[in-house]
Amino acid sequence: MKKGQCVDLHIHTNESFDGSLTVDEALAGAKENGVSLVAFPNHNIDNREIWKSKGRKLSSPVEVIDGVTVICASEVTCRIDTVLNKENNTTKVHYGIYGADMSPNSPLSRLLAIKRANDRQCDLGLLDFIISVKNIKNISENDIRDFMREKRQEIPGFSSLGKESVWEFLNKKGITVSKSYKEFSELCSRAPWHDRLNLSAEDVVKIAHASGGMVIMMHPWENLERVRDKSFAVMEILRMGIDGFEIFSPTMTDDVMAIIKRCVKSFKSKNKIVYTGGSDTHDFGRGNKIGRLHYLPLYREAVADFENEIMKLKNAKQKGKSSSRTYPKVTDAEIEGIIKYYKQAYLYLDDVAEATALGRTIKIEKPKKEHKKKKESLKSSKMRPGKKDRRLDGARYDIEDFESVHDYLGAISDDLGENVYDNPPEDETYEEYLERMNQVHSVNIPNIMEEDSELADD
Ligand SMILES: [Zn+2]
Ligand SMILES: [Zn+2]
Repeated sequence: MKKGQCVDLHIHTNESFDGSLTVDEALAGAKENGVSLVAFPNHNIDNREIWKSKGRKLSSPVEVIDGVTVICASEVTCRIDTVLNKENNTTKVHYGIYGADMSPNSPLSRLLAIKRANDRQCDLGLLDFIISVKNIKNISENDIRDFMREKRQEIPGFSSLGKESVWEFLNKKGITVSKSYKEFSELCSRAPWHDRLNLSAEDVVKIAHASGGMVIMMHPWENLERVRDKSFAVMEILRMGIDGFEIFSPTMTDDVMAIIKRCVKSFKSKNKIVYTGGSDTHDFGRGNKIGRLHYLPLYREAVADFENEIMKLKNAKQKGKSSSRTYPKVTDAEIEGIIKYYKQAYLYLDDVAEATALGRTIKIEKPKKEHKKKKESLKSSKMRPGKKDRRLDGARYDIEDFESVHDYLGAISDDLGENVYDNPPEDETYEEYLERMNQVHSVNIPNIMEEDSELADD
């Protein structure tokens, strides 16, 4: 194999919860396999932390780090509203966004901050709940990351925190929250329920382009496997303005490859539709797979068009232009409308979670996609009739006021600690806890014993 001629545009690191490699390990792994061009599209998060730790400009789309060319990237979970799968649900897809601006105020960074806050609440809702209820101090996000990293090395498919893993985590930390697992399990059954924030693929494409990034459909076979009409799906994806497809993917089939190539040929696109490739590796658990598809190296020539487009994008940015490609004009007002819609949708999910946890039946209107029709902002009063909201009345935090999502969530849990859980006394029994909760909320907390729901959507 020729050294330095391989590429891998789909490597996961521990920046997202389901990767176990550090960036340095991933870069070393790339060098070991002769890979000179990489990207780390972690789930629903940009590469801001990586860029910052390496002293790079947040608006920079491409950087050479430790001798390897790295394209800034993110893998965003979204839905194609117009394409149904065999179960008649809208189709979930993973879109890779490459070369976008990750400065805190870029549209993509703002959208991902909202999505990430929601995802973290889903992943860690249970742990956050136990921490608040039992007033546990000194657990940091890094402790949780380290624990999840260990779990991934043990169990390659591990991705989310269930009740058993939370129990294991607390025991490892020497924290006793209950006398027995049964008692702990009962406590868990009272944790708030969380739902994932659904981003529409069309909105994600607009926001990505507005941030100067290119959008690639990741592992197309995995996304299209359950879809009834795959050709229709690919044409819809093209119509919405995708820039390319990750056709060199470990799960690719000849059928899906043929459909994509046929659709691309018949679709009249203003921009060149590019093909990319990546291993989608999450760890070194079973050997270094960076730059490998079924153990064959992925040559740089295979994605040469993509590399050219990314380099043009970089040059355009250096000249102060946002993109070298032609995209339909999206106005600032439309971008603000999209961001606002997801912010409201996130707050709505939070309310539903709270209401469900308290066994309360309240009528909450889902936010409507008004940004599609007009640019008028959604009114929070219209969105949540009849709900007296303690947070929107000045106390609710605005995600943009915080440096990081972590700080933001910290502020929310401080708020919860004060207003909802009221710092429980250390020796409080479970019955006393229930009584106090019922007093706080003036409602009866039902004894709902539910199975752990499937949390991961990544
Ligand atoms: Zn994926
Ligand atoms: Zn992936």
